[in-house]
Amino acid sequence: MTFKELGLAEPILKALEAEGYTHPTPIQEQSIPILLKGKDLLGVAQTGTGKTAAFGIPILHQLYEGISLSQNKRKIKALIVTPTRELAIQIAESFTAYGKYTGLRNTVIFGGVKQGKQVNALRGGVDILIATPGRLLDLMNQGFISFRDLEHVVLDEADQMLDMGFIHDIKKIIAKLPPKRQSLFFSATMPKDIVELSRKMLGDFERVTIRPEQATAEKVEQGVYFVSKPNKPKLLIHIIKENPESTLIVFSRTKHGANKIVKKLDQAGIRSAAIHGNKSQTARQKALSAFKEGDLKVLVATDIAARGIDVEDLSLVVNYDLPNVSETYVHRIGRTGRANASGTALSFCDKEERAYLRDIEKLIKQSVPRMPEHQFVDEDTPSDDQPIPPKKKQGNSRNNNRNRNRSGGNNFRGKNNRNTNRPKKRTDSSRSE
Ligand code: AMP
Repeated sequence: MTFKELGLAEPILKALEAEGYTHPTPIQEQSIPILLKGKDLLGVAQTGTGKTAAFGIPILHQLYEGISLSQNKRKIKALIVTPTRELAIQIAESFTAYGKYTGLRNTVIFGGVKQGKQVNALRGGVDILIATPGRLLDLMNQGFISFRDLEHVVLDEADQMLDMGFIHDIKKIIAKLPPKRQSLFFSATMPKDIVELSRKMLGDFERVTIRPEQATAEKVEQGVYFVSKPNKPKLLIHIIKENPESTLIVFSRTKHGANKIVKKLDQAGIRSAAIHGNKSQTARQKALSAFKEGDLKVLVATDIAARGIDVEDLSLVVNYDLPNVSETYVHRIGRTGRANASGTALSFCDKEERAYLRDIEKLIKQSVPRMPEHQFVDEDTPSDDQPIPPKKKQGNSRNNNRNRNRSGGNNFRGKNNRNTNRPKKRTDSSRSE
């Protein structure tokens, strides 16, 4: 299947060729025909699958085809609502790239900055609006945004929006949408409240599911190091030094933790920057730009800030903390191995995180290969042969009966370095969610 066979307009095909896209990804192949028919869509997929183009291309196509007929040029005809500033900016960049020969104009609005420039852009007239929920509602309430000409609406990363507490804003926004519209709803996970929300928004819809395990298992090489909490900085520094050519994102569960990692790296002479919600928008953009341009090799991020990061050639993701929500693991490792590239994701697992690892392995239906022994082992380093302590409680079992191979290297590229003592596939059903 090629983009041409999907029946897309010439200017869009030309832009996709300029982007170097030759073939649609699975989500694009499945979603584009549904959307071109004018149907609503429920997409269960994570970022990294080509999701943005899966909704961006058919929206641009439909708007482009309608341009010559319509009187409503430069009126908002498509709205994309997404949880974070980074994602919003990135989606806008994608619309600009895929739509550069269509004459359609987009703008992006998000909170945390003054509204003046955004209001001016809206006043100038746009065809496509990309927005985070809070600022969107704010500018709607101030009368700067009209949905009178709206034809297409996308709710992106719905589960993340709910996690971030945007549910009320989202409901208010949905209530203001014109009834005659094409609605698209994307979420990486489908818990009950998300299903309910999707029912509120969608009419006659089709569902497309791209399984996270497909994305992770097929594209991303994974590994886990057992390491005690105090030794995590040393192991991270060691891995970075062993792989000087790599660009990497280090994930931290908390903002404070991210700052601490940057400090430790700095003390070891490794330049890095943190991006998280407490950093100003300017600081986040500056760090991201430096990273994308290759001036900065290490970015330390919290989950929410990292959702919008799309960096080509990101070779390595390090989960400094294992996430307590398994789906987050899939999101994180999806930062590497974007589209058709392959990547590596290494996780650090301390004693208290064993249960998180078990949950992740259950979700992705595979065991994460154990990395070889490293030199930073102490009495608190966990191992597979210990019982798993309950979640969120301090485990205190100490087991020094380990038989580890201390000579293993830490170059993540060396598949042969992998520990042979891989775990058997887990079948436990003790997940307490
Ligand atoms: P997304 O899931 O939308 O964040 O996209 C992930 C990455 O895949 C982005 O860097 C896109 O530019 C890239 N991408 C999307 N579609 C394709 C395609 N058909 N061929 C190659 N790369 C793509």
